[in-house]
Amino acid sequence: MREESGGRRDPGAPAAAPRPAEGAAEGAAEPAGEDLAPGAASRAEEELLATEPEDLLPEAPRDPALRSTIVHYDEVGLKRGNRPYFERALVRNIRHALRGLSVAGVWRLYGRLRVDQRPEGDAGELERRLSRVHGIAHFHPAERFPWDIDAVERKVAEWAAEGGFESFAIRCRRLEKHFPLRSQEVEVRLGARVGALSGARVDLDHPERTFHVLVLNQEIIVHWRRVEGPGGLPVGTGGRVLLLLSGGIDSPVAGERLLRRGCHLQFLHFHSSPFTDRSSIDKAIELAGIVAEHRLRTKLHLAPLGILQRKIVAEAPEPWRVILYRRNMLRIAAVIARRERLAALATGENLAQVASQTLENLALLDRTVELPVLRPLLSYDKLEIMEEARSIGTYEASIAPHSDCCGYLLPRRPVVAGTLEEVEAIESRLDLTAEIAEVLRRTEVVRVGGEDEPAEPAPE
Ligand code: ATP
Ligand code: MG
Repeated sequence: MREESGGRRDPGAPAAAPRPAEGAAEGAAEPAGEDLAPGAASRAEEELLATEPEDLLPEAPRDPALRSTIVHYDEVGLKRGNRPYFERALVRNIRHALRGLSVAGVWRLYGRLRVDQRPEGDAGELERRLSRVHGIAHFHPAERFPWDIDAVERKVAEWAAEGGFESFAIRCRRLEKHFPLRSQEVEVRLGARVGALSGARVDLDHPERTFHVLVLNQEIIVHWRRVEGPGGLPVGTGGRVLLLLSGGIDSPVAGERLLRRGCHLQFLHFHSSPFTDRSSIDKAIELAGIVAEHRLRTKLHLAPLGILQRKIVAEAPEPWRVILYRRNMLRIAAVIARRERLAALATGENLAQVASQTLENLALLDRTVELPVLRPLLSYDKLEIMEEARSIGTYEASIAPHSDCCGYLLPRRPVVAGTLEEVEAIESRLDLTAEIAEVLRRTEVVRVGGEDEPAEPAPE
């Protein structure tokens, strides 16, 4: 999207005008909200991130043809001093998520955000995507009106006539005090009409439906429908992590958990090609794509572990194979993480799920690399993980068959409680330096979620 994110505040702008988080006023020199072309978006994002909110354009467009959505964030808002930083990251992520949906702008609106979409944009898709943006608590698809209470009343009457509720409340907030009617007058007037048309009773404490009326500078926004967002923190505010992504159920769910805490992710998948087929690669690309969809533009590293596994199978004691595979996966991951400036590794490991995940074995893995190894699913039940995989849409892809690199010549009786002394003794006889270098040399990178990585917010 090309836009004037560096524009100065208009000193003549009314104090109560919504403060834009971004976007361009209708009729401004740059066309408002052209579809966000990949590439152009990240430059505008960088400018946006480098710009203090006060420096952004003064007024959101009042074009009544635009559809607005009011977005509430919770945890983001709680980060007191860091709030502008989290807010900007959220705005950037919303813009990224809504690319191609004819969004005219994302604006700051009194502790909330407002997303304006042009009429030709797909409203259902906008809802679907917003409901996946971390940092959003909930949002309201809204209708916009000029300062014309009759028009508002007609719309509210239409909604009331559709019924579907036994009790209701009207809540009016006037953010622009020059509006001729007081909040209570608006509430009484609309309340009488809704009551008459729907037969529902007024209940100010626990209404089944609440109609919200927001009076802004020269416009009124009305909504009643609430759609839940995923909560959490905006992606990009929680550090950069390399997720080891297998073709199984767990690791994509671990990725979702980290995104939810604001982490930016890159993915790393190990395959055993050419010793097995490449089915796990296609699966990793598909899974990374689902986890990243509309949230990340990032990299998936594809590392051929087979080179190293062949030597382990030939030279190391059989029960130790999986531990040796895993320790070397972490070593390779650590090199990639360092290159990519990623601060931690993460896996979908879970305490005692399988033989390789006993506490003793996890401890052995932790003592392989200096980087922290995050395990967001450590204490989950498998059923909980499966349920979450279904809800984020990775389950079906995960259960499809593939050739797993760790299933490659699995030991019959794996070590369940190895000690560091034992594994170090084995590794001292098994020099894998050349193989690790070869795996790294032959690691390929594919892009997931779009062409280039989004600009990351600079820490404040
Ligand atoms: P499952 O649902 O089958 O348990 P999983 O992904 O948890 O799938 P595990 O064998 O339990 O598979 O592996 C534990 C963790 O090790 C994975 O969550 C993943 O982070 C990492 N891992 C395993 N195999 C690979 C692989 N081929 N490439 C990248 N990471 C892997
Ligand atoms: Mg597992």
